[in-house]
Amino acid sequence: MAAVMIMAFDAHGEIRFVGDVPKGAGCGCFCPTCKSPLVAKKGFENEWHFAHEASQERPECAVGAENLARSLGIEHLRHLHGRGALVLPPYTTQAGVATLWLSRSEPVTWAAQLVGPLTWRDAPGKAQPVVTGMLDTGAPMAFFVQVGGASSPSLEDLPDECAYATLLVSPSWPRGTRTRQEAMASLAQTAKFHWGYLPDTFGMRANAQREIEAMELQARTRAAEFERQRSFAAGRRWANIANAMNQKMATPPQAGHHDVLAPVHSGSAAAVAVVRGPAKADPEVRFPQYPGHSSGCNFQFFRLGPDEAWVFYELDPVFVRQHGMTPVADKPQKFWAIAPAHGHTDGWEESLPPSVGKGDIDAGIYWVRDLMSAVGFLSPRSKGTTSAHDPSEFQDK
Ligand SMILES: [Zn+2]
Repeated sequence: MAAVMIMAFDAHGEIRFVGDVPKGAGCGCFCPTCKSPLVAKKGFENEWHFAHEASQERPECAVGAENLARSLGIEHLRHLHGRGALVLPPYTTQAGVATLWLSRSEPVTWAAQLVGPLTWRDAPGKAQPVVTGMLDTGAPMAFFVQVGGASSPSLEDLPDECAYATLLVSPSWPRGTRTRQEAMASLAQTAKFHWGYLPDTFGMRANAQREIEAMELQARTRAAEFERQRSFAAGRRWANIANAMNQKMATPPQAGHHDVLAPVHSGSAAAVAVVRGPAKADPEVRFPQYPGHSSGCNFQFFRLGPDEAWVFYELDPVFVRQHGMTPVADKPQKFWAIAPAHGHTDGWEESLPPSVGKGDIDAGIYWVRDLMSAVGFLSPRSKGTTSAHDPSEFQDK
């Protein structure tokens, strides 16, 4: 299907078809673009067509041919409406999401048809609406007619939420197309409506979108639950380790964990200070940020949030006695502390729950009452944990 010129203007500006005019230079037709006189070529071998005299075609003359095809498209639209045969195809749009948890897209289709009279525009430009009207959905509607591929129609002078569709007309004609009748018959076969937009008046797309978003939320929730389970499993592993450590150091088992450590009730803060006394310095304490740590102990780092990190470690029994904490049972006993990983800031001693330990500003630590409760709290909430004998390794964690 070559884009041959089967139409031209006559001297009165009417569209004439090559099959409807006399042969040769006597056809009386002119190029719609350059206005040059045309010759009607009606041979036996080539398709019948109009040609410029002495083959003076210019590239822009093809645009004129397209314009004629477009006016034929407008005529076709008028015929369809006049016969009550202007039927719009169903409109299809997409609902969907694309996130880490769900990527899904579904077509949503519904129908709308014209109701009431149409308003035809005079000599509409290529990108201008040809005709406007109303749909049975209540939305305003505009039609465009374009030749070849659809270019962006101009929506400037249309109301908000205006539906629109384009009637796409082929720029070329089937072989043997010579007359208006043949051209219109071909157009009826090849011209197609392409929806541009149809407002979601009945919420069809919105409903589909909500359903997909609910699925996405489900997928997201499942992922979060999985993450939570995983984190609890990590917490249980820690609790088991802590439990094993407790079993090892306390035989026979204590009657109750909460009685393992008890403050010496000395009656006043001054008395406690006296007990603590001057022997505060411990030559074995190498990391003053973690007061009272036992010599060569392992430090466990827990990152709970962007501004919250804790270090869990074993205490030196001397430090414990100096601070007036003493085991109830006179047995070899391990003691644990938690201190802020990146320095003591305001309110640090109130940040952890009593189940973890008791914040002590003077000592600079949380006294951990129960290893399992403490690690069981920290571990599942931790975004990352590291252990080291040198806590400076946590500097960048
Ligand atoms: Zn021309």
